[in-house]
Amino acid sequence: MATTTLQNHIGGSLRNAHGTGTLDLIDPATEEVYGRIPLSDAHDLDAAYAAAVSAFPIWRERTPAERQLALFRIADAMASRAEEFADLESQDTGKPRATLVADEIEQSIDQLRFFAGAARSLEGRAAGEYAAGHTSYVRREPIGVIGQVTPWNYPLNMAVWKIAPALAAGNTVVLKPAESTPLSTLLLAEIVAEHTPAGTLNVVLGGRETGAALVAHPVPQMVAITGSVRAGMAVAASAASDLKRVHLELGGKAPAVVFDDASIQKAVDAIVTAAFFNAGQDCTAATRVIAHSSVHDEVVRALVARTKTHARTGAPHEDGVLFGPLSSAAQLAQVQGFIDRLPAHATIETGGRRQGEKGYFFEPTIISGMRQDDEAVQNEIFGPVLTVQSFDTDDEALTMANGVRYALAASIFTRDHTRAMRFTRDLDFGCVWVNTHIPFVSDMPHGGFKHSGYGKDLSQYGFDDYTRVKHVMTALD
Ligand code: NAD
Repeated sequence: MATTTLQNHIGGSLRNAHGTGTLDLIDPATEEVYGRIPLSDAHDLDAAYAAAVSAFPIWRERTPAERQLALFRIADAMASRAEEFADLESQDTGKPRATLVADEIEQSIDQLRFFAGAARSLEGRAAGEYAAGHTSYVRREPIGVIGQVTPWNYPLNMAVWKIAPALAAGNTVVLKPAESTPLSTLLLAEIVAEHTPAGTLNVVLGGRETGAALVAHPVPQMVAITGSVRAGMAVAASAASDLKRVHLELGGKAPAVVFDDASIQKAVDAIVTAAFFNAGQDCTAATRVIAHSSVHDEVVRALVARTKTHARTGAPHEDGVLFGPLSSAAQLAQVQGFIDRLPAHATIETGGRRQGEKGYFFEPTIISGMRQDDEAVQNEIFGPVLTVQSFDTDDEALTMANGVRYALAASIFTRDHTRAMRFTRDLDFGCVWVNTHIPFVSDMPHGGFKHSGYGKDLSQYGFDDYTRVKHVMTALD
């Protein structure tokens, strides 16, 4: 692998990229180069979009039952090649290999199966005579060709979140995976090509410039990205110039509010896993504990104790590891930068340093004494770093929780039902958990408000986002 440059998957087969530049793939656990991707250019995107345009009328004509069957077969193939997917994903990301199938591959399989079902349950108003002498009905149609861009934190999951609803609804796709994590998406493309018309899914490799060109291309009717706020804003601005539909999932800064009536141990157990899983490189990760002043010290002590016993980082093939290295040198530098710039009033309770000298490992880190306007409270660190703040009143807790530009996910820990109901209403986030943090299901929507973007992934809402609604009205005489 060390000397080969990966190929794009266009029109049902692998093709050398026309773009001549390349980018090394660097193993985040060892810092060794293990491959190269091409930096695809406008010719590559023209070819991929041409393939998607040719495939669209064929794929759209398939009945929902036929599309469902194709997605089931793709899910079955993923299940039978789960270990292979896990090997590729672990190579690209450094995730713990032993738990990868259960933690991530099985979710992708379930999501494919969910959207296979969604293909057969199109929603709309009943046909009827809404004006005298006229029958109206609604057609729910695919949008057309979709351009999609995925990130490096959950490469396969994010590809499936994007591809499955789009294909289920009858669209065709050109997708660019993140530059550092292409392998699982290429295997997915190979499998999809075995069960769909050539060109239904096309995968083009490259970096930000390729992504920007994919979005700016005149063919797609809609563009979808999961990534940074910066990238999302660039995509929305580009798409505005020719009014493409936009679907954005741009990260978060999830609060976990712990009230004095909560079961502190249960809250802490949930928060530690949710903070450090995937090295905190998760847009729904618990990042900000907001604890009632009467339990604050107990919460900090319990968080530190639980972190020391349950949040070990280590190499992909080590036993008993919760999370692997950060994804890249840039990500390590970003996390270290936040720690280096901590204000004097902050206390590092545990962690705070790179672990080892090779690989982008960072210790699980808990910082107390934080204030609302500290940058580590306001900005996405996207690393294994948890901050803790203290509050006295419910209103104060709400103001702190909502007081960031992100609005993807939040959690509260309380046994008081009325308080829980009030907070689920008043927390300004796309997902609110009560007495848990981070689980999600294929059947329920995932997506944020404010700078976390707009549009839903997963669920029937995610499916609907990849359809358009047409009203047909017929005079009866
Ligand atoms: P990024 O947003 O630059 O990369 C994500 C994907 O978008 C990649 O495939 C990239 O090539 C592509 N991309 C970047 N700019 C683009 C543009 N203008 N047009 C089209 N595609 C573009 O993310 P990053 O710089 O690698 O990471 C920086 C930060 O982004 C992270 O620290 C984290 O805060 C955030 N992030 C969030 C998520 C998430 O799940 N929401 C995922 C990855 C990164």
